[in-house]
Amino acid sequence: MNHSRWDPANIRYLFYGVTPAETTYSNIDLIPNFTDLATPSMLLLVIIEYLFLDERKYAFNDTITSINAGMFSVLSKYAGKSISAALYVSLHPQINILHLDPSSTTTWLLCFLAKDLAYYLAHRFIHEGGVFWSFHQMHHSSEYYNLSTALRQGALQDLSTWIFDIMWCPFIPPNVFIVHQYFNVLYQFWIHTEVIPPLGPLEYFLNTPSAHRVHHGRNPYCIDRNYGGTLIIWDRLFGTYAAERPDEQIAYGLVTPVASFDHLYCQFFEFKAIGFDKPRMKDANGKEVFVGWKEKLRAIFGPPGYFPGTKTHWFFFWKCVDDSEEGIPEVKGPISKYDRPCRLWLRVYLLIHFLLLIAAFIKFNELRSASTTWEDLFVYCSFFIISFQMYGYFFDCRWFALPFESFRLLSIFAYGLYISEAALTSFALASFVCLCSLAQAGQILIFDEKKTVIVNGNGNCTSEVGDKKSN
Ligand SMILES: [Zn+2]
Ligand SMILES: [Zn+2]
Repeated sequence: MNHSRWDPANIRYLFYGVTPAETTYSNIDLIPNFTDLATPSMLLLVIIEYLFLDERKYAFNDTITSINAGMFSVLSKYAGKSISAALYVSLHPQINILHLDPSSTTTWLLCFLAKDLAYYLAHRFIHEGGVFWSFHQMHHSSEYYNLSTALRQGALQDLSTWIFDIMWCPFIPPNVFIVHQYFNVLYQFWIHTEVIPPLGPLEYFLNTPSAHRVHHGRNPYCIDRNYGGTLIIWDRLFGTYAAERPDEQIAYGLVTPVASFDHLYCQFFEFKAIGFDKPRMKDANGKEVFVGWKEKLRAIFGPPGYFPGTKTHWFFFWKCVDDSEEGIPEVKGPISKYDRPCRLWLRVYLLIHFLLLIAAFIKFNELRSASTTWEDLFVYCSFFIISFQMYGYFFDCRWFALPFESFRLLSIFAYGLYISEAALTSFALASFVCLCSLAQAGQILIFDEKKTVIVNGNGNCTSEVGDKKSN
């Protein structure tokens, strides 16, 4: 099997297009990082969709935020491996009871089903398990639905779902399980698109773009529906399936939109909202909504839509609401999407830095190995996270975006001096000059919260705030 990142045939990894024989490995260390191998295909498909799709279906700020989230989720894994994979490998020798042949096709097929069921349960849990929703909501925070949305992943999601993979550890060999772990996730890339219509009979057993569009909707009928990974049979079996309604436009995103591109805020705001604010919630008369410690625990660990009086029932080891449409507002068109203006030359500046950021990320992944020093890891991870934040601040038109970017460029300059890399210091200096010119030319806009207007660097009002509308 070819393991070059630039092999065009790698595109088939995005469709589970592999045979058991070619993905059977005698040793775990021989399993390639399939996510890494499929990354160029994913980026190419995002670019093609971006160029050819109606501009209302894509947005510059949203797409960059989604791709940044994809990079962040890879950064949070050690050498590309998830926490559950590492745990699986270390636990299997101690708790293996079935001793299945790892090279048999039957084991491979059995594992395909087992991993997909584990995904269904894990996915359902992080939707319905109260504060555990915070690990996953990032994936649903985009108000657009396109291939870049697939990359928008919760950075720490693995921390909340590993138990569902470990459930199979006593039965299935790790070298088969890890292969399916890769393909189960990669398969879900192509289903994030509005381009592909319902696929007829395939809708009965496969997770398709149509089925997953429903999963990303905030219309009442879409809530808590279609959790499947590769197959949709689990949703049909456990009663969570809903077909896309051709007569009702889907509004994508969170029930209460996050209305920000601030990366760390988007990743983590829900932990505070559910884990801290919700149990302390007060009604219009100033009385506590969740009275007593039992109700407060229900506020944190009950379904995200739970309030005193909401009817719930057990599923596996968590509770879900009886009526998932209860309390969900109807969607009325035209649908507004959060947006702040970003002027042309600032876009050009951000795009150039974004392409370089992707190049640096690919390089970092190549260099990254168990022997990478902590110092290098710290420098690279800080650089990427600071860069993700910079994009969020410009897209939100925050007043401190300009000083923050100046600080980022100064840090790159200082690091270039430290490692005696003239190209890096020159690049940082040239970028700083460009940034100052952009500020001077009124290209950098600031959102004034008190006046709800956008002003440029000179304090002149440039436009009223208005969200994008689509129908
Ligand atoms: Zn989900
Ligand atoms: Zn999705």
